[in-house]
Amino acid sequence: QAKRLGGDRIEPFRPGYKTHASGRVELESDLRRAFGRNELSLMFQPIVKLSSSEIVGFEALLRWNHAKRGPISPYEFIPMAENTGLIVQLGQFALDEATRRLSDWQKLPGQSKLFCSVNISSRQLIRQDLLNDVRHILKRYNLPPETLKLELTESLVMDNPERSAKLLERLKEMGVGLSLDDFGTGYSALSYLIRFPFDTLKIDQTFLRGDAHPQKQIIVQSIVTMAHELGLAVVAEGVDKEIDAQRLRQLNCEYVQSFMFSPPLTAEEARRRLQDRQGRKAAVV
Ligand code: C2E
Ligand code: MG
Ligand code: MG
Ligand code: MG
Repeated sequence: QAKRLGGDRIEPFRPGYKTHASGRVELESDLRRAFGRNELSLMFQPIVKLSSSEIVGFEALLRWNHAKRGPISPYEFIPMAENTGLIVQLGQFALDEATRRLSDWQKLPGQSKLFCSVNISSRQLIRQDLLNDVRHILKRYNLPPETLKLELTESLVMDNPERSAKLLERLKEMGVGLSLDDFGTGYSALSYLIRFPFDTLKIDQTFLRGDAHPQKQIIVQSIVTMAHELGLAVVAEGVDKEIDAQRLRQLNCEYVQSFMFSPPLTAEEARRRLQDRQGRKAAVV
Protein backbone atom coordinates (compact mmCIF):
# COMPACT_ATOMS: atom_id res chain seq x y z
CA GLN A 1 0.00 0.00 0.00
CA ALA A 2 2.18 2.81 -1.24
CA LYS A 3 0.97 6.02 0.28
CA ARG A 4 1.12 9.18 -1.75
CA LEU A 5 2.46 12.15 0.09
CA GLY A 6 2.73 15.73 -1.18
CA GLY A 7 4.03 16.17 -4.69
CA ASP A 8 5.47 13.11 -6.32
CA ARG A 9 7.09 11.56 -3.30
CA ILE A 10 6.03 7.99 -2.81
CA GLU A 11 6.57 6.54 0.62
CA PRO A 12 6.13 2.87 1.42
CA PHE A 13 3.29 2.30 3.85
CA ARG A 14 4.78 2.06 7.32
CA PRO A 15 2.13 1.00 9.81
CA GLY A 16 2.68 1.97 13.39
CA TYR A 17 4.03 5.45 12.88
CA LYS A 18 1.27 6.76 15.08
CA THR A 19 1.89 4.42 18.00
CA HIS A 20 1.18 6.31 21.20
CA ALA A 21 4.27 7.18 23.26
CA SER A 22 3.17 5.27 26.37
CA GLY A 23 2.12 2.31 24.27
CA ARG A 24 5.53 2.38 22.68
CA VAL A 25 7.37 2.17 25.97
CA GLU A 26 5.25 -0.83 26.89
CA LEU A 27 5.90 -2.42 23.52
CA GLU A 28 9.63 -1.89 23.98
CA SER A 29 9.67 -3.82 27.23
CA ASP A 30 7.50 -6.49 25.60
CA LEU A 31 10.07 -6.78 22.82
CA ARG A 32 12.76 -7.32 25.42
CA ARG A 33 10.77 -10.27 26.76
CA ALA A 34 9.66 -11.54 23.36
CA PHE A 35 12.74 -13.73 23.02
CA GLY A 36 12.06 -15.76 26.13
CA ARG A 37 8.44 -16.15 25.12
CA ASN A 38 9.23 -17.54 21.70
CA GLU A 39 7.33 -14.74 20.02
CA LEU A 40 10.05 -14.03 17.47
CA SER A 41 10.57 -16.03 14.34
CA LEU A 42 12.02 -15.82 10.86
CA MET A 43 10.19 -16.05 7.58
CA PHE A 44 11.90 -16.65 4.26
CA GLN A 45 10.87 -14.92 1.06
CA PRO A 46 12.06 -16.63 -2.14
CA ILE A 47 14.37 -14.73 -4.46
CA VAL A 48 13.65 -15.97 -7.95
CA LYS A 49 15.75 -16.08 -11.09
CA LEU A 50 13.72 -14.18 -13.68
CA SER A 51 14.88 -16.19 -16.69
CA SER A 52 13.81 -19.56 -15.24
CA SER A 53 11.44 -18.65 -12.38
CA GLU A 54 13.54 -20.88 -10.15
CA ILE A 55 14.14 -20.15 -6.48
CA VAL A 56 17.84 -19.37 -6.07
CA GLY A 57 17.78 -17.97 -2.56
CA PHE A 58 15.75 -16.45 0.25
CA GLU A 59 15.67 -13.26 2.28
CA ALA A 60 15.29 -13.90 6.00
CA LEU A 61 12.65 -11.60 7.51
CA LEU A 62 11.98 -11.21 11.23
CA ARG A 63 8.47 -11.64 12.57
CA TRP A 64 7.08 -10.74 15.97
CA ASN A 65 3.85 -12.38 16.98
CA HIS A 66 2.88 -10.53 20.14
CA ALA A 67 0.88 -12.71 22.57
CA LYS A 68 -1.82 -10.05 23.07
CA ARG A 69 -1.54 -7.78 20.04
CA GLY A 70 -0.85 -10.35 17.38
CA PRO A 71 1.63 -9.78 14.54
CA ILE A 72 3.61 -6.53 14.76
CA SER A 73 5.22 -5.20 11.60
CA PRO A 74 9.02 -5.08 11.36
CA TYR A 75 8.59 -1.47 10.23
CA GLU A 76 7.42 -0.89 13.81
CA PHE A 77 9.63 -3.13 15.93
CA ILE A 78 12.94 -2.95 14.02
CA PRO A 79 13.34 0.82 14.60
CA MET A 80 12.38 0.17 18.22
CA ALA A 81 15.03 -2.49 18.49
CA GLU A 82 17.56 -0.16 16.88
CA ASN A 83 16.83 2.63 19.37
CA THR A 84 17.05 0.38 22.40
CA GLY A 85 20.07 -1.61 21.23
CA LEU A 86 18.05 -4.82 21.23
CA ILE A 87 18.78 -5.07 17.52
CA VAL A 88 22.13 -6.67 18.34
CA GLN A 89 20.37 -9.66 19.91
CA LEU A 90 17.67 -9.74 17.25
CA GLY A 91 20.27 -9.58 14.53
CA GLN A 92 22.27 -12.39 16.05
CA PHE A 93 19.15 -14.50 16.26
CA ALA A 94 18.33 -13.79 12.59
CA LEU A 95 21.86 -14.53 11.41
CA ASP A 96 22.07 -17.75 13.37
CA GLU A 97 18.63 -19.06 12.52
CA ALA A 98 18.95 -18.14 8.82
CA THR A 99 22.29 -19.89 8.39
CA ARG A 100 21.14 -22.94 10.35
CA ARG A 101 18.19 -23.32 7.97
CA LEU A 102 20.33 -22.57 4.93
CA SER A 103 22.85 -25.30 5.77
CA ASP A 104 19.97 -27.76 6.12
CA TRP A 105 18.45 -26.76 2.76
CA GLN A 106 21.78 -26.87 0.94
CA LYS A 107 21.88 -30.62 1.61
CA LEU A 108 18.79 -31.13 -0.56
CA PRO A 109 19.48 -32.40 -4.10
CA GLY A 110 20.68 -29.63 -6.41
CA GLN A 111 20.62 -26.97 -3.68
CA SER A 112 24.32 -26.65 -2.76
CA LYS A 113 24.46 -23.10 -4.19
CA LEU A 114 21.27 -21.87 -2.52
CA PHE A 115 21.82 -18.54 -0.74
CA CYS A 116 20.20 -16.66 2.10
CA SER A 117 20.17 -12.89 2.61
CA VAL A 118 20.12 -11.41 6.10
CA ASN A 119 19.37 -7.76 6.92
CA ILE A 120 21.98 -5.91 8.96
CA SER A 121 21.31 -2.73 10.95
CA SER A 122 23.88 -0.03 11.61
CA ARG A 123 24.13 -0.86 15.32
CA GLN A 124 25.20 -4.34 14.27
CA LEU A 125 27.63 -3.14 11.65
CA ILE A 126 29.55 -0.81 13.96
CA ARG A 127 30.11 -3.59 16.49
CA GLN A 128 33.47 -5.20 15.90
CA ASP A 129 31.86 -8.56 16.73
CA LEU A 130 29.99 -8.79 13.44
CA LEU A 131 33.11 -10.04 11.66
CA ASN A 132 33.67 -12.68 14.33
CA ASP A 133 30.02 -13.68 14.34
CA VAL A 134 30.03 -14.17 10.58
CA ARG A 135 33.32 -16.05 10.64
CA HIS A 136 32.09 -18.43 13.36
CA ILE A 137 28.78 -19.02 11.66
CA LEU A 138 30.35 -19.85 8.30
CA LYS A 139 32.60 -22.32 10.06
CA ARG A 140 29.97 -23.85 12.30
CA TYR A 141 27.68 -24.68 9.40
CA ASN A 142 30.47 -25.17 6.88
CA LEU A 143 28.74 -22.78 4.48
CA PRO A 144 30.23 -21.65 1.18
CA PRO A 145 30.77 -17.98 2.16
CA GLU A 146 29.16 -16.57 -0.98
CA THR A 147 25.87 -18.27 -0.04
CA LEU A 148 25.51 -15.91 2.92
CA LYS A 149 24.53 -12.43 1.79
CA LEU A 150 24.25 -9.41 4.02
CA GLU A 151 21.78 -6.64 3.13
CA LEU A 152 22.64 -3.08 4.07
CA THR A 153 21.01 0.23 3.23
CA GLU A 154 22.54 3.40 1.85
CA SER A 155 21.71 5.43 4.95
CA LEU A 156 23.49 2.80 7.03
CA VAL A 157 26.78 3.06 5.16
CA MET A 158 26.48 6.84 5.02
CA ASP A 159 26.12 7.06 8.80
CA ASN A 160 29.73 6.12 9.10
CA PRO A 161 31.33 5.81 5.68
CA GLU A 162 34.96 5.26 6.69
CA ARG A 163 34.23 2.57 9.21
CA SER A 164 31.63 0.93 6.98
CA ALA A 165 34.05 0.83 4.07
CA LYS A 166 36.65 -0.96 6.19
CA LEU A 167 34.17 -3.45 7.60
CA LEU A 168 32.63 -4.21 4.25
CA GLU A 169 36.08 -4.79 2.77
CA ARG A 170 36.80 -7.32 5.51
CA LEU A 171 33.48 -9.07 4.91
CA LYS A 172 34.20 -9.12 1.18
CA GLU A 173 37.59 -10.74 1.88
CA MET A 174 35.77 -13.44 3.82
CA GLY A 175 33.77 -14.07 0.66
CA VAL A 176 30.28 -13.20 1.85
CA GLY A 177 27.86 -11.45 -0.51
CA LEU A 178 26.97 -7.80 0.07
CA SER A 179 23.68 -6.38 -1.16
CA LEU A 180 22.69 -2.73 -1.21
CA ASP A 181 19.06 -2.78 -0.03
CA ASP A 182 16.19 -0.38 -0.83
CA PHE A 183 18.19 1.33 -3.55
CA GLY A 184 16.65 4.58 -4.73
CA THR A 185 14.94 5.56 -1.48
CA GLY A 186 17.91 7.06 0.32
CA TYR A 187 20.51 9.50 -0.80
CA SER A 188 21.46 7.40 -3.79
CA ALA A 189 24.90 8.91 -3.91
CA LEU A 190 26.12 6.91 -6.84
CA SER A 191 29.73 7.23 -5.74
CA TYR A 192 28.85 4.88 -2.88
CA LEU A 193 28.24 2.12 -5.34
CA ILE A 194 31.88 2.30 -6.35
CA ARG A 195 33.30 3.08 -2.94
CA PHE A 196 31.78 0.04 -1.21
CA PRO A 197 32.28 -3.53 -2.35
CA PHE A 198 28.65 -4.42 -3.04
CA ASP A 199 27.97 -7.21 -5.51
CA THR A 200 24.18 -6.93 -5.63
CA LEU A 201 21.76 -4.03 -5.81
CA LYS A 202 18.15 -4.37 -4.67
CA ILE A 203 15.81 -1.88 -6.33
CA ASP A 204 13.25 -0.67 -3.82
CA GLN A 205 9.66 -1.71 -4.33
CA THR A 206 8.45 1.90 -4.58
CA PHE A 207 9.69 1.84 -8.20
CA LEU A 208 7.99 -1.41 -9.09
CA ARG A 209 4.70 -1.52 -7.27
CA GLY A 210 1.48 0.22 -8.23
CA ASP A 211 0.76 2.30 -11.29
CA ALA A 212 3.12 2.10 -14.21
CA HIS A 213 4.39 5.68 -14.30
CA PRO A 214 6.67 6.13 -17.31
CA GLN A 215 9.08 7.94 -14.98
CA LYS A 216 9.32 4.91 -12.73
CA GLN A 217 10.13 2.73 -15.72
CA ILE A 218 12.88 5.09 -16.79
CA ILE A 219 14.36 5.04 -13.30
CA VAL A 220 14.24 1.24 -13.13
CA GLN A 221 15.81 0.93 -16.56
CA SER A 222 18.61 3.35 -15.63
CA ILE A 223 19.31 1.60 -12.34
CA VAL A 224 19.51 -1.84 -13.97
CA THR A 225 21.76 -0.60 -16.79
CA MET A 226 24.05 1.27 -14.41
CA ALA A 227 24.26 -1.65 -11.97
CA HIS A 228 25.24 -4.01 -14.77
CA GLU A 229 27.88 -1.63 -16.10
CA LEU A 230 29.33 -1.55 -12.59
CA GLY A 231 29.29 -5.35 -12.43
CA LEU A 232 26.45 -5.65 -9.90
CA ALA A 233 23.62 -8.17 -10.04
CA VAL A 234 20.12 -6.75 -9.62
CA VAL A 235 17.18 -7.90 -7.50
CA ALA A 236 13.88 -6.14 -8.22
CA GLU A 237 11.68 -5.99 -5.12
CA GLY A 238 7.90 -5.90 -5.04
CA VAL A 239 7.21 -6.35 -8.77
CA ASP A 240 3.45 -6.80 -8.94
CA LYS A 241 2.59 -6.91 -12.63
CA GLU A 242 3.51 -9.43 -15.30
CA ILE A 243 4.21 -6.55 -17.70
CA ASP A 244 6.86 -5.23 -15.31
CA ALA A 245 8.39 -8.69 -14.91
CA GLN A 246 8.48 -8.86 -18.70
CA ARG A 247 10.27 -5.51 -18.96
CA LEU A 248 12.76 -6.58 -16.31
CA ARG A 249 13.46 -9.76 -18.27
CA GLN A 250 14.18 -7.66 -21.34
CA LEU A 251 16.62 -5.58 -19.30
CA ASN A 252 18.32 -8.83 -18.20
CA CYS A 253 17.56 -8.05 -14.57
CA GLU A 254 18.65 -11.27 -12.86
CA TYR A 255 16.36 -11.66 -9.87
CA VAL A 256 13.01 -10.71 -8.47
CA GLN A 257 11.58 -10.87 -4.95
CA SER A 258 7.88 -10.15 -4.69
CA PHE A 259 4.49 -11.41 -3.58
CA MET A 260 3.72 -12.04 -7.24
CA PHE A 261 6.19 -14.94 -7.10
CA SER A 262 5.90 -15.83 -3.43
CA PRO A 263 5.17 -14.24 -0.05
CA PRO A 264 7.55 -14.90 2.84
CA LEU A 265 7.32 -18.57 3.90
CA THR A 266 7.91 -20.41 7.15
CA ALA A 267 11.09 -22.48 7.22
CA GLU A 268 9.02 -25.64 6.80
CA GLU A 269 7.17 -24.24 3.80
CA ALA A 270 10.43 -23.07 2.26
CA ARG A 271 11.94 -26.54 2.64
CA ARG A 272 8.91 -28.14 1.06
CA ARG A 273 9.14 -25.78 -1.90
CA LEU A 274 12.75 -26.72 -2.46
CA GLN A 275 12.02 -30.44 -2.25
CA ASP A 276 9.14 -30.33 -4.66
CA ARG A 277 10.37 -30.23 -8.27
CA GLN A 278 7.44 -28.13 -9.43
CA GLY A 279 7.33 -25.98 -6.31
CA ARG A 280 10.91 -24.93 -6.86
CA LYS A 281 9.66 -22.95 -9.80
CA ALA A 282 7.78 -20.09 -8.25
CA ALA A 283 4.48 -19.60 -10.02
CA VAL A 284 4.38 -16.73 -12.47
CA VAL A 285 0.98 -15.10 -12.42
P1 C2E B 1 13.35 -5.12 3.31
O1 C2E B 1 14.67 -5.61 3.78
O2 C2E B 1 13.34 -4.20 2.14
O3 C2E B 1 12.48 -6.41 3.03
C1 C2E B 1 11.53 -6.51 2.02
C2 C2E B 1 10.15 -6.21 2.55
O4 C2E B 1 9.27 -6.12 1.43
C3 C2E B 1 9.57 -7.33 3.41
O5 C2E B 1 8.70 -6.71 4.35
C4 C2E B 1 8.76 -8.14 2.41
O6 C2E B 1 7.74 -8.91 3.01
C5 C2E B 1 8.20 -7.01 1.58
N1 C2E B 1 7.78 -7.41 0.23
C6 C2E B 1 8.43 -8.21 -0.65
N2 C2E B 1 7.74 -8.33 -1.80
C7 C2E B 1 6.63 -7.57 -1.67
C8 C2E B 1 5.49 -7.28 -2.53
O7 C2E B 1 5.40 -7.75 -3.66
N3 C2E B 1 4.54 -6.46 -2.03
C9 C2E B 1 4.63 -5.92 -0.78
N4 C2E B 1 3.65 -5.13 -0.36
N5 C2E B 1 5.67 -6.17 0.05
C10 C2E B 1 6.66 -6.99 -0.39
P2 C2E B 1 8.79 -7.00 5.92
O8 C2E B 1 9.03 -8.46 6.14
O9 C2E B 1 7.57 -6.38 6.50
O10 C2E B 1 10.07 -6.25 6.39
C11 C2E B 1 10.14 -4.87 6.41
C12 C2E B 1 11.52 -4.36 6.68
O11 C2E B 1 11.92 -4.66 8.01
C13 C2E B 1 12.58 -4.99 5.80
O12 C2E B 1 12.58 -4.37 4.53
C14 C2E B 1 13.82 -4.71 6.62
O13 C2E B 1 14.28 -3.40 6.40
C15 C2E B 1 13.31 -4.83 8.04
N6 C2E B 1 13.67 -6.15 8.57
C16 C2E B 1 13.00 -7.33 8.49
N7 C2E B 1 13.70 -8.32 9.08
C17 C2E B 1 14.85 -7.76 9.56
C18 C2E B 1 16.01 -8.27 10.27
O14 C2E B 1 16.16 -9.45 10.57
N8 C2E B 1 16.98 -7.35 10.60
C19 C2E B 1 16.87 -6.03 10.26
N9 C2E B 1 17.88 -5.20 10.61
N10 C2E B 1 15.83 -5.54 9.57
C20 C2E B 1 14.81 -6.38 9.22
MG1 MG C 1 16.23 -6.51 2.96
MG1 MG D 1 14.62 -4.25 0.45
MG1 MG E 1 12.35 -2.29 1.37
